[in-house]
Amino acid sequence: MDYQPDKDRYENINYRRCGNSGIKLPVLSLGLWHNFGAADDYENCRSILHAAFDNGITHFDLANNYGPPPGAAEIKFGKIFQQDFRPFRDELIISSKAGYQMWDGPYGDWGSKKYLLSSLDQSLKRMGLDYVDIFYHHRPDPETPLEETMSALDLVVRQGKALYVGISNYKPAEAKKAIDLLRNLGTPCLLIQPRYNMFDRWVEDGLLDVIENEKIGCITFSSLAQGLLTDKYLNGIPADSRAGRHLKNGAITESQITEDKVKKVKELNKVAAGRNQSLAQMALAWVLKDERITSVILGASKPTQIAGSIKGTGNIHFSKEELEKIDLILQQ
Ligand code: NDP
Repeated sequence: MDYQPDKDRYENINYRRCGNSGIKLPVLSLGLWHNFGAADDYENCRSILHAAFDNGITHFDLANNYGPPPGAAEIKFGKIFQQDFRPFRDELIISSKAGYQMWDGPYGDWGSKKYLLSSLDQSLKRMGLDYVDIFYHHRPDPETPLEETMSALDLVVRQGKALYVGISNYKPAEAKKAIDLLRNLGTPCLLIQPRYNMFDRWVEDGLLDVIENEKIGCITFSSLAQGLLTDKYLNGIPADSRAGRHLKNGAITESQITEDKVKKVKELNKVAAGRNQSLAQMALAWVLKDERITSVILGASKPTQIAGSIKGTGNIHFSKEELEKIDLILQQ
């Protein structure tokens, strides 16, 4: 049957302007790093994407290497896009990235112009798209001159293969340099994509200042710490959880779910209950309380996680006491 998105989809979620650009992003975006690999159930993937768009999530975040195997998430997304989302292309922001190992030899990794341009062509082919809305350099390359990498981002915009560009995993000083280079080339940096969650607050040490001063957007990843900042690991490791499935490619492992972490998660869970939120909802709200964060990219293994998470974005206000309590728990 043809997919018909919920007609009230734009009532369900807030949108924030991405820096001083013309683009607004939903406060929650959907990421396809996990759960969209070749072996993952096609109909479940489809339902996750439907649940997202039905709830006003207009932004899907991909990368060349998402899978497994690398490329599989773009292939799967492309298939679902052709089946269900083609009529809604102009309502969607679709992102991809290049920066990690993709193919053999010296041109399939890092940040050369050769790699970035070839990779974006491959991504467009896998997804069956004429252009992506946002193309990112996925991680800084210590060897390639930043001028070359940024000129590659500028070029893909001039070629019409991407509308906007961004950078991911850049530290404050290199982010500032990249932003300046892009501005001078005439293709402003739309946004930065860093990891940010209650357990990993490195962006508070300089990067958020760069984002504010340069008036660009910020979209965070792993804001649920890959599921740790939810109630799923409170009493052991469920077999169907990300840790319990023993995935590779940077997925959270059982050994990362330490006793100390679970103790903190249990305390945080109590603070969330006091706010009438689930821990997942509070963890997302905690990131979104900062207006400099444009959007949080959520990962999901089930469609129900989407609506459950969106509810958290309705209350992003924290009292001084709540924030102090959270800080105390995290510092223990
Ligand atoms: P999250 O921290 O959001 O973790 C997602 C996991 O949390 C889900 O798979 C699910 O775990 C669990 N979860 C989600 N919602 C709920 C809920 N309501 N209740 C209970 N559990 C829930 O993010 P990811 O680490 O997956 O990253 C999100 C996206 O960010 C990626 O898909 C990717 O697009 C991007 N990213 C970018 C990176 C970069 O270098 N630029 C690096 C990493 C991610 P379970 O599977 O156990 O059910």
